[in-house]
Amino acid sequence: MPMVRELIGVLQTAYPPELAEDWDAVGLVCGDPEDEVERVLVCVDPVQATVAEAEELGAQLVVAHHPLLLRGVSSVAADTRKGKLVHRMIRNGIALYCAHTNADSANPGVSDALAEAIGLTELRPLNPHPLAEPEEPIGIGRIGELPEPMTLREFTKQVAAALPPTEPGVLAAGDPDRQIRTVAVSGGAGDSYLSVATRARVDAFVTADLRHHPASEHLADGDVPALIGVTHWASEWPWCEQAADVIRAACEGTVEVHVSRRNTDPWTMRVGEQGGIRSEG
Ligand SMILES: [Zn+2]
Repeated sequence: MPMVRELIGVLQTAYPPELAEDWDAVGLVCGDPEDEVERVLVCVDPVQATVAEAEELGAQLVVAHHPLLLRGVSSVAADTRKGKLVHRMIRNGIALYCAHTNADSANPGVSDALAEAIGLTELRPLNPHPLAEPEEPIGIGRIGELPEPMTLREFTKQVAAALPPTEPGVLAAGDPDRQIRTVAVSGGAGDSYLSVATRARVDAFVTADLRHHPASEHLADGDVPALIGVTHWASEWPWCEQAADVIRAACEGTVEVHVSRRNTDPWTMRVGEQGGIRSEG
């Protein structure tokens, strides 16, 4: 059975910590590097639901995309929400390791998993990482090609079918009949890359957490990529299988690796029918 320390080595080779943004907090959050690991759970969010899943599985290591403790803390007392989770993991012999923006920038990384899931090939970085050599394909987001062009309407359906179902579903903005061939993606909140996607002259940009003002101002500029908005969890979930495969490949059956399917988006309900006031436009 591998030790936590050895699995960290495997993950750091795939997702080098030096690729993380300066503000980020990646790596081992809790747990003993010398503990043995029989089972691993990979998830997007280190929250109650996924820690409970790790307990049910009997996992000794949770590999999460999002950090649990992003900002400095002076207490992990069990009467705080995050402290309680830290206590719960330690008491149950569960280590937590987070690979966040280092997993975004790595190749393959979070956006490769998203891009491949929705049918893109010939992937290259949308926003190359400053450490990257010119031809080294690392950085946030990816640009890729559809094997055959299709309409925005068809492509939006393809994106929805490729990702796990969520209550908010998938939204698109742009002419439904527009032909889509070159597509940019950015797993997670990507509206800061709207102008980068526009400069790249892609036909569509797939990301999460698109807000009203950045999205509507982008569209108002005219000749710009169509937008496809998915939920944050759904956009990053394909990475879990990628990270699981990284561990499986390195450990050759000595450890059992599970991918969490528990939806940890905050949205749990959708009402499609709305009141009597009809909008125009
Ligand atoms: Zn994220």
